[in-house]
Amino acid sequence: MEDKIRVLIPEREVDEKVKEIGKRISEDYEGKSVHLICVLKGGVFFTCELAKRISVPVSLDFMSVSSYGSGTESSGVVKIVKDLDEPLAGKHVLIVEDIIDSGRTLSYLIEILKQRNPADIRICTLLDKPSRRVKKEVRVDYTCFSIPDEFVVGYGLDYDQKYRNLPYIGVVEL
Ligand code: 5GP
Repeated sequence: MEDKIRVLIPEREVDEKVKEIGKRISEDYEGKSVHLICVLKGGVFFTCELAKRISVPVSLDFMSVSSYGSGTESSGVVKIVKDLDEPLAGKHVLIVEDIIDSGRTLSYLIEILKQRNPADIRICTLLDKPSRRVKKEVRVDYTCFSIPDEFVVGYGLDYDQKYRNLPYIGVVEL
């Protein structure tokens, strides 16, 4: 049976916002190059669209982590499933996330990546659920949309591996 999906953020709004954030990043990194780290799989659509909107030189690398948890709660114990291909030393790293919920996954990721001596690390996320944040110290530099505490899909985000390809952000009506 098909699930019913309610549109939360329409395609045009997402596209406009990604363009705007890409412009801000281009201005902030003027004269430098930016090393985007895509957190798989959810971050892949956002990373690709964002990269196209950045006008300074961009390099890309991919990482896959799995967060152990029960149900929809992440535990903060994160396992690297696929590590980066390139070293980070001296690079201006921008971590690109699909969504920040408790912040546990990201907090752990930042700690690991800091040890690899990048010039700096910033965070960019498509979606943020600030009301769910446990790791208050996680500072997000670029947020496309802050959303209420609802389970969302689309633009890379899945429900049981489905709906990543939706060009908008939606809520599965269960
Ligand atoms: P955190 O460690 O911040 O609690 O969890 C972040 C991860 O939880 C995200 O990268 C994503 O995989 C998953 N997640 C959190 N909220 C949602 C949601 O509303 N929809 C989907 N599809 N995944 C979510």
